[in-house]
Amino acid sequence: MFCKVDRVILLHKTSQFCNSSSPQIEYCFPNAIRRVSSYVERIRRGQNLKENVKLPVKCYENGNFILFSQKPRKVLVQKGIQMNKIKQFRLTREKYQVVSTMGVNVKENSVFLGLGSDSEPQFALEIPYDESLMDKFGNASARFLGVRKSLFLLSEAESSLTSQACSLLSWHKQKVHCPDCGNLLINIGCTGSKLCTSESCSSHKLNKRHYPPINPVGISIVSDELNTKVLLVRQPSHLPGMFTCIAGFLEVGESVEDNIRREVAEEVGLDVIKTEYVASQHWAFPASRLMLGYHATVKSADEKISLDAAELEDAAWFTPKQLRESLERVTALADKELSMLPGSEETSSFRWVPPKGALANKLICWWLDRFDS
Ligand SMILES: [Zn+2]
Repeated sequence: MFCKVDRVILLHKTSQFCNSSSPQIEYCFPNAIRRVSSYVERIRRGQNLKENVKLPVKCYENGNFILFSQKPRKVLVQKGIQMNKIKQFRLTREKYQVVSTMGVNVKENSVFLGLGSDSEPQFALEIPYDESLMDKFGNASARFLGVRKSLFLLSEAESSLTSQACSLLSWHKQKVHCPDCGNLLINIGCTGSKLCTSESCSSHKLNKRHYPPINPVGISIVSDELNTKVLLVRQPSHLPGMFTCIAGFLEVGESVEDNIRREVAEEVGLDVIKTEYVASQHWAFPASRLMLGYHATVKSADEKISLDAAELEDAAWFTPKQLRESLERVTALADKELSMLPGSEETSSFRWVPPKGALANKLICWWLDRFDS
């Protein structure tokens, strides 16, 4: 027996967002009635859209577009929002009516990011880099900002969205041919996959659809057994004065714990005696990665560091006081002019940890909260 229930979703049934103007009404068995949170409803609707071969036109028309330039890769942000005494920056979101007049094919150059907190479709759109476009937005505070620097200034949620958008935009640009047959791939509604329609691949359904790759990377905050200090490292490619956590790609056959122990041994010559999972994060730079964050413990901060000079420029132990001072410097950047961001200072001494949008920053904050609060 069926009953009619408003705003209840049966687990195996998907809703038709954007395809219908009728209210969301689902049918289900009385015993299977299950109230779902707005989060679940939003995720289910987003999933339904991502699986479409073609996104409904209304999706674009109702959507918000976050704008990126490709060369150089920059993102359009706004400044001047005051939150908790700190000037926050946020992503600029434009409507379809605006972006459709900018001389780019919106459907060809955008990727679908999912539904926002108000269930509005969110897109990332790539446009030519041109500061004169600012006039079109009618927003004097909007400006293009390098995506890495934007992580210093955006909220954690918007940093994450920026990272997702960069990975998807790059993948859509680079993934042109099917790796199995060489046929041109077809964009599927600007979502997170592409389709091969050649006869040879169509006969093998598993090979037909291609998804963006995500490479796992282990990253660890290394401390001594008594948690008195933290070991950070810097590579030559890091911003001047920046030290961060040890990280490296997983090798075939490794667990994340194996990876953490191996990377610490390779890079600084220390033996990890204990690992603990802390948090994970997607990271788009320079390519799509899943960062798996751990706390790694070594016996003592007095053990001699043996640096892998091929990979690293420096490695050192830092006290909680030094870490807090560097975190304050990074936070304070949000309240200064963009020209003051790291990169303008020529120094290799410790001044910065990674920005709040990076998992290394979260691991350092986690360690301070847990062991030095
Ligand atoms: Zn193919």
